[in-house]
Parts: sequence; structure tokens; C-alpha cells
Amino acid sequence: MKIKLREITQYLEQIAPPAYQESYDNSGLLVGNPAMTVTGILCSLDCVESVIDEAIAKNCNVVVAHHPIIFGGLKRLTGKNYVERTVIKAIKNDIAIYAIHTNLDHVLNGVSAKIAEKIGLQNLRILAPKKQLLKKLTTFVPTAHTEKLLTALSAAGAGNIGNYTNCSFTVQGEGTFQPNEKANPHIGTANSLEKVQETRIEVIFPSYLEGQVLSAMRKNHPYEEVAYYVHSLENENQEVGAGMLGELRECVYPQEFLQHLKQAMQLKVIKHTQLFDKPIKRVAVCGGAGSFLLKNALSAQADVYITADYKYHEFFDAEDKITIIDIGHYESEVFTKDLLADFLQQKFADLPIQIASTNTNPVSYFF
Ligand SMILES: [Zn+2]
Repeated sequence: MKIKLREITQYLEQIAPPAYQESYDNSGLLVGNPAMTVTGILCSLDCVESVIDEAIAKNCNVVVAHHPIIFGGLKRLTGKNYVERTVIKAIKNDIAIYAIHTNLDHVLNGVSAKIAEKIGLQNLRILAPKKQLLKKLTTFVPTAHTEKLLTALSAAGAGNIGNYTNCSFTVQGEGTFQPNEKANPHIGTANSLEKVQETRIEVIFPSYLEGQVLSAMRKNHPYEEVAYYVHSLENENQEVGAGMLGELRECVYPQEFLQHLKQAMQLKVIKHTQLFDKPIKRVAVCGGAGSFLLKNALSAQADVYITADYKYHEFFDAEDKITIIDIGHYESEVFTKDLLADFLQQKFADLPIQIASTNTNPVSYFF
């Protein structure tokens, strides 16, 4: 069975919609033709020259990486730096590069959830849910067409809230309209006032699905002119945002927790602020550079905040309220490789999917 690159990218975009990436980010297909046939996929944290070499050696013509190799734009391809050389090598060898970065950070089962899984946290929720990602559709349909329209809206992605699907609110009422002589009405005749039993339907949907939700409404609504409103909601989307918050199954004292963390995340060294003489239960995590979420970890009353790339002066912000634990950027996100491979293997069981063995960490430790 020949699988096209387009099928891979479409699947990954269901898992981590590109609309959920930060404005500065550059996730998505960076190199490659969506119509190319995939021979194998190499999952990596970074995509650098040595990873392209590994892909060639392993007969994988797609690299799916967390960090986008092209980030701030490329103006020339002369091989002057590692970014240009990586892209040139990929193109010369027909290797596609797909980046799944902050959009994968922002989903419920993304980068930080993988860290939480490794540490053994439970009762997980997003640490900083994002606002203004939801919209509400209100429309009015002849009562007999309600089920058909609701089914179509649901299939287009509307009405999914947490672990629930087909969520909607309906109320019966009377609609009135008067077609003119140019109209082609489903019900009624020209220049005569009609009164129809209608259902008012309300459904919530993620903003990025607006096009397909409205298209499903139009296709499955009997009226020539569909009455509807779309409202932007201020609500937080509990399923989208940065970081994760969870709890340990049992409280542990800080020294024991650090030992557990070191083992679970395969760390050589841990940087941390003051340890307190009280058991740790609630843990906040964020893969990669996460100092911007300290205020969320504090307001969630986390005992510790595990992240990376903390600067000296930022460590002071822990005060005596929380223990900041910096485990290193690469170390915090390295299991994203396994996460990506697991996602892809679930869907493309017959495709060779490999986890990159190249260590792309630019940081080394000397003891
Ligand atoms: Zn990162």
C-alpha cells in the first residue's frame, strides 16, 4: 500500500492542529512534496544534518521533528550554516521535513503530557488553557430537519466538549418569513407570510473549523437563505494550552522526588531552587523553555515546577513558594520522539516508523 506524504501530514494535523501553534512558530511541512510516496518515517526532536543522514541510512524519506529547522525564514541556500546545509541535504536526497512544534505543546496528549506520563502524574489538566479558540454557531431549522443537521454539524467537528461528542442545545419555536417572487423557497409561496415550527440549534466548535462547520450547515439545511449567527467565545478551551498540571499517586519528600525524576527522565543532572521540608504532591510541567508559566504553576498551587532553560535571575522568582526544577531543554523533550512514533504507528501500522538514535543535544555536561 502506497502512502502519500499528504496522508501523514493530514493525520498529524488532526492530532495537533496547525492553528494551535504560536504566532512566531513555523510548524508544518517545511520540505517535500505532499504527493510523494512515503518509504518510512524517522521521528526526531531536532532535524539537523546528522538526522537527515540517519534517515537516508534507514531508508526513511520523511523526518517528523518537534523543532522546526526553518524557523525565522531562509533567504538563501548556500550551505553557509547548519540550517541551510540541512535543508540542502534533505532536498538533494528527496527527504521531506515536517515540524510539529508549539501546536504539539498545546494539545492534551502532547509534549508536556508525555513528561507527565514519564513521571507518573495523574489527574492531568492543561496548566495554562488558551482563550478565544472557540466559537458558537446558532441556527434555525425546520424541526423535521433537526437530526440531520445536528449529525452533519457533529461530523464536521462541532459539539465536541472534552470526552463528550454530539453536544448541542436545542429549543423549539416559530420562525416567520415571506419569500418574494424571485425566491425559490423550500416551504411557502411568493409574497405570502409563512409561519414554520423551527428548532434553534446551538453548538460550540474550535474556531479553526469554522469553514467546514458552516459548509456542513449549508449543505444540510433545507433553506435557500440560512439564518445563523457565529459568536466568538471568550471561554478558555480546557483542551488547548501550554504545560500540564498533575498529581503524584503518593506524596514524596523532595530528595526522593528528585531521585525519581532523575531516573524517570534519564537525567545526568538537575538544577533546582530551594527544597522545602514538606511532601510533594502537585506537579506542574512544561517541556522546553517554560519560565513564562511560573505564574500559572503558582496559582495552581503546584509544589514543584519542572521545565527548562531557566535563567539565573528567573530562578529568584520561586521565592519561598515553589521549587523550580530545570532538567534541560533536550532532556525535557527527548521523549517527544516516542510520542510521535506512537501516534504514527497507531495509524500507519504497515509503514516503517523509527525513532532517531542521533543525539541532537548541542549541550554536553562535564563532571
Ligand atoms: Zn523545545
